[in-house]
Amino acid sequence: MIVVIKPQTTKEEIMKLKEKLESPLCSVQIIEGVSQTILGIVGDTSTIDASVIQQNKCVEKILRVQESYKRANRAFHPEDTVIKVGDAQIGGDKFCIMAGPCSVESESQIVEIAKSVKASGATILRGGAFKPRTSPYAFQGLGMEGLDLLNIAKKETGLPIITEVMTTKYVEAVAENADIIQIGARNMQNFDLLKEVGKTRKPVLLKRGLSATIEELLMSAEYIMSEGNEQVILCERGIRTFENFTRNTLDLSAIPAIKKLSHLPVVVDPSHAAGLNWMVEPLSKAAVAVGADGLIIEVHNDPANALCDGKQSIRPEEFESLVKSLKGIAEINGKRI
Ligand code: PEP
Ligand code: MN
Repeated sequence: MIVVIKPQTTKEEIMKLKEKLESPLCSVQIIEGVSQTILGIVGDTSTIDASVIQQNKCVEKILRVQESYKRANRAFHPEDTVIKVGDAQIGGDKFCIMAGPCSVESESQIVEIAKSVKASGATILRGGAFKPRTSPYAFQGLGMEGLDLLNIAKKETGLPIITEVMTTKYVEAVAENADIIQIGARNMQNFDLLKEVGKTRKPVLLKRGLSATIEELLMSAEYIMSEGNEQVILCERGIRTFENFTRNTLDLSAIPAIKKLSHLPVVVDPSHAAGLNWMVEPLSKAAVAVGADGLIIEVHNDPANALCDGKQSIRPEEFESLVKSLKGIAEINGKRI
């Protein structure tokens, strides 16, 4: 971080500011030019609030030379992070497919879908027990019972499970019952929730907020990681734009961008991005081609009667042919399904 000092500032004032900025984590160097003096702050500057320093009367402007996310930053961790969950791997040379219904509805529904997606090549079972719904009158999920049913499906198939947690109150229960904790798009900036899942030692799949920038997504990952949980999977699930043909707009450019900025694995959710079942296949292919590490796809055995997101859910047989069609593209990118 660089602090540009206003002309005519006295040496005494500069020294006072230097002392204020110095900490066990950061050292400050004074660089005196012919017409301008600057302070160079090196070390962990993530705890420095630039807006507070800016208020100091001798500060002209502040330039951040490093991004404020550190633990999520590729500069601080050049190798790709690879997360292992049971037999599944997210990141590295494998392409991970997570699949299952939007919501857990019954034992027979989740077990049947789990068996079919496993047979087709999914390595992680998705299913919502706590559902973030736009309407308070819509199906809100089975809650704790949903977690039990997911565990029955896990026992039957051996598939690890991913499920969403919406509030700090249920973090412990979800961490105990799930293999990966999902933070939904609407909660991407629920900082208390991020800190709480950061205290667990379960991998966290963090979905990009509806209107969040890539940097905001990485800052949210930083919240989780700053609590000691380094196992974060980022998820591009479409963002809100002026286009309303699709439910959201899948930001494919976010995948190579995140790969450049961060070492964390990135998966794509084509189901929530498009909101249309027939678009899941082309968007999945595109996601593989741009370098995603995996997909999270909604699959339902009876989409017409699904309690949530039936319109964007594909049938088990469509999922089977989709996985087959992705293998070749994944191989070109050096990944195995
Ligand atoms: C989901 O995965 O079921 C979900 C609600 O997704 P999002 O948070 O991306 O809307
Ligand atoms: Mn859904």
